[in-house]
Amino acid sequence: MASRQRGLVKKRTTWLFLLFSLLYVAVAGRLVYLQVIKRDYYKAKAERVRERTYPVRATRGTIYDRNGRALAVNIDTASVFANTRDIRDISKTSVRVAALLDQDTNVIEEKLNGTRHFVWLGRQLDARIGDRIWNERNKLPGVGMQRDTKRIYPAGALAAQIVGFTNYENQGAEGLERVLNSQLQGKNGKFTAELDSERRVIPETRHVLKNAEDGRDVYLTIDMTIQHITEQALAELAEKYHPRSACAVVMDPRTGEILALANYPTYDPNNARKTKSALWRNRAVADLYEPGSTLKTVTAAAALNEGISPYQVIAHCTGREKIAGGRVSCTLHHPFQNGHGGVDMLKMIQQSCNIGAAHLALRLGAKKLYSYEKAFGLLDKPHAGFGCEAVGYMDKPDQWRPIRLANIGFGQGMAVTPLQMTGVYATIANGGVRVEPQIVREIKNRDGTTFRAFKPGKATRVISKDAAMSTMRLLKSCVDVGTGKPGKIDGRTVAGKTGSAQVAKENGRGYENGTFIASFMGFAPVMSPRLVIAVVVNRPQGSHWGATVAAPVFREIGEKSLWYLKVPSDTPSNEEMRRQENERKRLADRSIKGFAG
Ligand SMILES: [Zn+2]
Repeated sequence: MASRQRGLVKKRTTWLFLLFSLLYVAVAGRLVYLQVIKRDYYKAKAERVRERTYPVRATRGTIYDRNGRALAVNIDTASVFANTRDIRDISKTSVRVAALLDQDTNVIEEKLNGTRHFVWLGRQLDARIGDRIWNERNKLPGVGMQRDTKRIYPAGALAAQIVGFTNYENQGAEGLERVLNSQLQGKNGKFTAELDSERRVIPETRHVLKNAEDGRDVYLTIDMTIQHITEQALAELAEKYHPRSACAVVMDPRTGEILALANYPTYDPNNARKTKSALWRNRAVADLYEPGSTLKTVTAAAALNEGISPYQVIAHCTGREKIAGGRVSCTLHHPFQNGHGGVDMLKMIQQSCNIGAAHLALRLGAKKLYSYEKAFGLLDKPHAGFGCEAVGYMDKPDQWRPIRLANIGFGQGMAVTPLQMTGVYATIANGGVRVEPQIVREIKNRDGTTFRAFKPGKATRVISKDAAMSTMRLLKSCVDVGTGKPGKIDGRTVAGKTGSAQVAKENGRGYENGTFIASFMGFAPVMSPRLVIAVVVNRPQGSHWGATVAAPVFREIGEKSLWYLKVPSDTPSNEEMRRQENERKRLADRSIKGFAG
């Protein structure tokens, strides 16, 4: 019995032993499998928890003027952030970070005590501040920094509304920075890196998976010197007449290239976020206004193109007249206190006669006049390359009552942009051929090769060459002997026209009392025009005459820019005569003093 039991125990023990042995082998095998065969797999998996993928930031392209002078460039910066949950001592950290960032301790402390776990403590700071934060990282758990670039505008406020600015993410927010963002921004690459125990990137572990493709460079048609001359002239005007706003456009009529486009008041895009957004607006392109008398040029050009002689009398002006069920009046200056008398097209432009223009418009008829307004580009988008171009507004001609037609003849009762009006004068200057305006000259790849070169815009004939030459002569006489005299540039022949238009009420019913838009537009030299210049001044104080307020700005821009472009003088200069006269006087004075001494 006992031996039988012993035998049973022995048998069981053997079985158990075998069972445990098998289990042991299985466990050992598993361990060998895990520790030896799958070792690399698990190690990699453990590391991957700490390794992350980040973008390699592409460098944003540079914006240059036509001569390669930089208007928007990048500098290296650093942004500093905090993961507030990882901070051990908020007050201590605040004191140290505030010192490094040169900021107020309370401001930092407030941010760290906020409800958010992730906060920016400073963005796009001097790169050296970022270095200091990195060097002290062991003393500042929870605080990290990220290398970054920042857009800066070395010319400050120059061409601010054209160039615009970027946001913190280096994306275009305004102006051409926004319109051309896809060209400028490039494509980000990718890198992996490990994080330390504070979840900060360890630079030595950076591994680039894909390089970034840098953005393309943009060359504008703007000439920085002419832009500066133009902005300076507007600033001087503002000091004298304190307008609500003002703008000026300078264009090469042969190519449609915009050489300068300035808006007053302006802002510094380096501090854009601290300025009112109204200042960012490119009014010369985006704002509509009633052009007033500067539009008489279209009425005259249309009539000349239709074969009406510039010397044929079109009206007898007594200063005011009931026309087509409405009232039209002229602004009268000496020696025309009793009206402009018998008016032909020459006098109509020279003395800016509204009654003459009204009669001429009635004679042309609504459909015809409308078709010329359209052909001159006033009712279409200019497609110059700006993002915010407004389109001129005018009712369809079949809706015009006769008085509306008469009013449109002298530029009231419709709305256009200053850029569109510049196009009208450029078309006349260019012998009747309209060339689409443009603001971008070339886009280059980062290696300097051309990505896209802009040829002169689409050219369309609007009026015959003869009609354009006749219009030019009318505009020249306006500056030589008419209301445009203050636009005269010494030593240059100038063609131009004044405008003083009432400001339409916002509800569209009638006009604001005593508010005007003063303007002057023209070109020089007359026989081979190099520059078309348009100046529009919104609600000047002290005077509202285009001749008084806007023409001197035109003269200032024209005189300096033509000199800068080395355009030869084409008419005898008064100054030279005066200089010689003064020199004679000085010599005479000196000889008298010589006798006396
Ligand atoms: Zn008149």
